[in-house]
Amino acid sequence: MAADNVVIVDTSRPRPEVIGEMDQFSAPVFLHEQAIYLHEGAQYHVDQLDWEAKKAYVRPVEVDHYTDALMSTRVEVLDTFGGPDSGPLARSHGEVKLTSLATMFKKIRFHTHENIGSGPIHLPEQTLHTTGWWISVDPGLVGDVEEAGLQGMAHALRHVAALRLMCDPHDLGAVAEVRSTHTRLPTVTVFEAYPGGVGYARRLFELHDQLLAAAADLVAECPCAAGCPSCIGPLHLVPGAKDACLRLLRAQALTYSASA
Ligand SMILES: [Zn+2]
Repeated sequence: MAADNVVIVDTSRPRPEVIGEMDQFSAPVFLHEQAIYLHEGAQYHVDQLDWEAKKAYVRPVEVDHYTDALMSTRVEVLDTFGGPDSGPLARSHGEVKLTSLATMFKKIRFHTHENIGSGPIHLPEQTLHTTGWWISVDPGLVGDVEEAGLQGMAHALRHVAALRLMCDPHDLGAVAEVRSTHTRLPTVTVFEAYPGGVGYARRLFELHDQLLAAAADLVAECPCAAGCPSCIGPLHLVPGAKDACLRLLRAQALTYSASA
């Protein structure tokens, strides 16, 4: 196990038992105090997170909500291994440094997705050196709901990327930036959640077109009216986010068919 992973301890058993662990970069998102942590299909409430000791104390619960942490994340590109190529959704991959701060969380009810509570998260900023696949978006495509559309795109791409690679969804993260410091363009980055990465980012770069198509299908085929956590993430309160996300995801394919 990695030295700085957070160990997850179930305190409900007669003798407290370690049920899992999580990398330090992801832990503030999923293991902050009062988070609902999902493990093998079961819900656990995080009673305490001892950041110094890197231990999260949890107990099983059955509740009608999940938690969603709000993050502010910056992406710095350290080295570009491939790309960018041309097109309205230009792909690249390389070495990135992420700096992330979890600021607060929301409690969201299943099915209705209503917000039923919130709270602050007081944990230190985390940095991660890893590899990522990033997509620079033609700024002309990005309209009024730019940020919601980009965030929806990041959510959907991470989801289909994890399915395609058959990895744990926690192995990948995704960030949407309205203006990247590196590309100076609207940019979506899917990164590997472990230091250094294990080679997923290169694979995602190679699968670029297929992943965009799969993400567009995921969003288009989702029965929700205006976006939900299953497709574009917990953004359903932003009107037009689902349509904006679909327009972005389909932009590349439209260019191909126009030039064919
Ligand atoms: Zn949906």
